[in-house]
Amino acid sequence: MELFRYYSIQRHFEMGYNLLITIFKMNKIKQKLLFIILLIFIIKPSFSQVEIDDGDPLNNINLPVFFKSKLSDIDKEIENIKLGEVKTIATSPGGLPIYAVYYGEKENFHSKANYNSAVAAKNPVFYAKKDSLTKPVVFFIGPVHGQEIEGIVGLVNLIHIAETGKDHRGKDWSSLKNKMEKCRTIIIPCANPDGRKRCPYDSFIGLPSKIMTKYGQGTRKDGTLWGWPKAKSVHPMHGDVGILGAYFNDDGINLMQDEYFSPMAKETEAILKIARTEAPDITVSLHSHSNKPIILSPAFIAMFMKNRTLDLTLNLNEKYRKAGLASWPSDWMWTPKIEDEKFPPKTTFNLISALHHISGTMAFTFECPQGFVSADSPNSIVSFDDILDIQLILYEEMFDYILKNRLIWN
Ligand SMILES: [Zn+2]
Repeated sequence: MELFRYYSIQRHFEMGYNLLITIFKMNKIKQKLLFIILLIFIIKPSFSQVEIDDGDPLNNINLPVFFKSKLSDIDKEIENIKLGEVKTIATSPGGLPIYAVYYGEKENFHSKANYNSAVAAKNPVFYAKKDSLTKPVVFFIGPVHGQEIEGIVGLVNLIHIAETGKDHRGKDWSSLKNKMEKCRTIIIPCANPDGRKRCPYDSFIGLPSKIMTKYGQGTRKDGTLWGWPKAKSVHPMHGDVGILGAYFNDDGINLMQDEYFSPMAKETEAILKIARTEAPDITVSLHSHSNKPIILSPAFIAMFMKNRTLDLTLNLNEKYRKAGLASWPSDWMWTPKIEDEKFPPKTTFNLISALHHISGTMAFTFECPQGFVSADSPNSIVSFDDILDIQLILYEEMFDYILKNRLIWN
């Protein structure tokens, strides 16, 4: 073993020596070229966009102009912001900025304690004095899963509405803008730019869901799909990785299942800090899936908050039905319940639960259809327009709900 190590070191030394001699023998131009190539390798972010494998569907590059699902779309929208305030709240492991856009003045909530201690003192007012004189705070968290691009489309258009009253189709949303002006609004257009950058698709309409699973949740080295929920069985996602799914940041962290008492990801830390300091009345984490649009039942939060979330869910479903969008039968909906009465546990204290316990916010996950097709159902349940409408109707419903049903803390 030792002998082998000696020969190995000697071999490496000889290789290095020979390489140096070769470089010295090169002319100046070749030396400079080599230096530039080495520099590119050193400063290159850890991952670039994943290439689409031969045989997989191509990325649709003929998207409607309003379908703003790319990181460059966020950059362009942010460059044109005049009314809002933009902050970089964190930098991803891949070196990308995570932006937050703020509309409306921040109130002084006269905070004397953290939320947890205030609740222990039997009144959240010690954390934040929210009376009728203060504006409600609405918090939008864009995709933490990079392939769930529909939330970016919605939030880029929401910023455009906040600035101009219209979405990128030119459709008037002045009623939504008016409601925004009665609130403080915080928008993170994309919470996981690393994942979004690695996702090679800008839309999944008309594609089989297997493609999303492959590039979204990633593959093992042998090319098999991690899939859901196995993509959560290794965390951080390291080791047996072929394609690192867009689910994760470049460190392999899934922000939805981070370690909230000691976050692994800077992105998670920054999101929680906003919740802690802004005391949002209502918070959505935007996700996407293969089914109809729905707000999921939040877990490990106060029962009154689960009931409020159900009210919002029913209102929203009714709005989708009236608008002729994909919706659920009115008598079909989840009911609030307690978690995991029996072993083994299957319900997690996730980002949503953490957001609630750090700020008292009414936090929930929203799932938007992505427009997959299969042999059994060859037609997508949504069009590009539908996806934008589904997003914007959700946002307007959140403003409506919180303006009408706000919890007063005083
Ligand atoms: Zn998701």
